Amino acid sequence: MKAMTLAAPGQPLEARELPDPQPGPGQLQVRVAACGVCRTDLHVVDGDLTEPKLPIVPGHEIVGRVSALGDGVKDFEIDQRVGIPWLGHTCGACSYCNRGEENLCDSPGFTGYQIDGGYAELTVADADYCFPLGEDGGDAELAPLLCAGLIGYRSLVMAGENARRLGIYGFGAAAHIVAQVATWQGREIYAFTSPGDTAAQDFARSMGAAWAGGSDETSPVELDAAIIFAPVGALVPAALRALRKGGVLVCGGIHMSDIPAFPYRDLWGERVIRSVANLTRQDAIDFLALAPRVPVRTEVVEYPLAEANEALDDLRSGRLTGAAVLIP
Ligand SMILES: [Zn+2]
Ligand SMILES: [Zn+2]
Repeated sequence: MKAMTLAAPGQPLEARELPDPQPGPGQLQVRVAACGVCRTDLHVVDGDLTEPKLPIVPGHEIVGRVSALGDGVKDFEIDQRVGIPWLGHTCGACSYCNRGEENLCDSPGFTGYQIDGGYAELTVADADYCFPLGEDGGDAELAPLLCAGLIGYRSLVMAGENARRLGIYGFGAAAHIVAQVATWQGREIYAFTSPGDTAAQDFARSMGAAWAGGSDETSPVELDAAIIFAPVGALVPAALRALRKGGVLVCGGIHMSDIPAFPYRDLWGERVIRSVANLTRQDAIDFLALAPRVPVRTEVVEYPLAEANEALDDLRSGRLTGAAVLIP
């Protein structure tokens, strides 16, 4: 099969011909139809995340069809369309798994990080961590739901049911999905982009934002909650100052630059800062059921698999509107 592989952080991906991966017991072999390009892939490629298997096939927003079943797989059939997310494996035995917090598992395996992912024609995944997608919607349009959608949804849940006025910092793939869900739920979205990025601000308004402006601008209202998707630590004190008392600030990314010091009075008043880490399988079940009801429409830019480096560069430089998706 053809695959794009990372030999070492800081290097471009290489186009390689690899043996077809074979499913072990309990696994699916999936022919990849589309694989989204997530900011986390950039953090793996750039070496911000330090525990990759190397070489690794990145990619954890995978949509494809089952092409072979490992021993013991009962719930899937050949040709069925499935999605494969970031959470590829958990131990099932640690204190976090036992508490229903498998997203925090002590011995996890993440797709496209420790487990070869979807920048390839074929991939293999534990069936217990794959999700049936049905036949509605295009492969490329569904791919961003598998991480941008899931992490965005978990971030939205952590913002709290009562957060009506919601700030979103960084308006990319995750934000454009969250904005649709949140406005459908009756919330107001205030979108903060890089200063001067009027294209992203127009995009945010087209996705239902009540207001869009630069992150250097003062929020027009006191926010009940805010979610930061941009990997920029300086946004934490800025967003905190926009929150009402008791407001919640959710950091939705896996990596962020250092957070500058800020006065305690900005946190005072029972404001909360929290991160969101990974996803549980229940998040996926909940969100994949919710998305068609909204319905969530993703804005995607397709690239051939061989142009994975170009897609990553476009994401890194902010040239993208919406979500990049690789098509093998
Ligand atoms: Zn565990
Ligand atoms: Zn991701």
